[in-house]
Amino acid sequence: MKQLKDKVVVVTGGAQGLGKAMCERFAYEGAEVVYSLDLQKGNLTADNVKHQELDVTNIAEIDSCIQSVKEAYGRIDVLVNNAGVTRDALTQKMDDNKWESVMDINLKGVFHMTKAIAPIMMENGSGSIINISSIVGLYGNIGQANYAATKAGVIGMSYTWAKEFTRKGAAVRTNVIAPGFIETDMMKTVPEKVLQPLRDQTPLKRLGRPEEVANAALFLASDESSYVNGHVLSVDGGLRL
Ligand code: NAD
Repeated sequence: MKQLKDKVVVVTGGAQGLGKAMCERFAYEGAEVVYSLDLQKGNLTADNVKHQELDVTNIAEIDSCIQSVKEAYGRIDVLVNNAGVTRDALTQKMDDNKWESVMDINLKGVFHMTKAIAPIMMENGSGSIINISSIVGLYGNIGQANYAATKAGVIGMSYTWAKEFTRKGAAVRTNVIAPGFIETDMMKTVPEKVLQPLRDQTPLKRLGRPEEVANAALFLASDESSYVNGHVLSVDGGLRL
């Protein structure tokens, strides 16, 4: 049976990488519609995937976009806060621009998307929110103080939402995926001399594939995870160990 039959799904940053893999998997699993909300269109081809241009830092744009989804479908069942960026530098060289831009997209973007969608889910009595954090949010990484702060912050917000959005009997679950290092465009800036030690340190001896994160997201999006709430699911080949 299709695991997301008739669900209305919103994925931020769905044009490429992990977001694209999730959009395609969710569409295949019978979602009525999967919205990719992204700065760019990408090449999503499934009939039930729709691209809507959105900058997750623009609160007014978020509100009108989510309102139009609500008007069209009456509900939103799944939200994946996936859009994210890196602007790496050692702390002493990290300027305010690098700090602010990562905060705005990775942390405030997640907050404002969720603020717009959670009330719709609560009104509907159910929903699944999945926030994409990172192994870096759990353990830190040299040159990524800004990124690590946002990805750790996302976990704190998720624990809060796992409590807040289940008040008054609403079954709105919030969970986190903490990927390790996955082969996407984001990793293209990382030199091979950094990637090879990462492969070597990973018990599975390779980087992850976007589809492997999409599989985990599918579990958390579907009713198969109906009693999973406030969980951080590492998808990292065991690298954290
Ligand atoms: P990616 O760079 O391939 O794709 C990110 C997508 O987000 C792009 O389509 C981009 O256009 C979109 N985006 C960026 N800023 C946006 C904005 N302001 N508004 C709307 N959309 C915006 O990245 P990815 O590797 O697929 O990463 C996806 C998520 O997974 C990110 O949150 C990232 O931090 C996280 N993550 C990635 C890895 C990895 O190894 N690739 C590891 C851990 C966590």
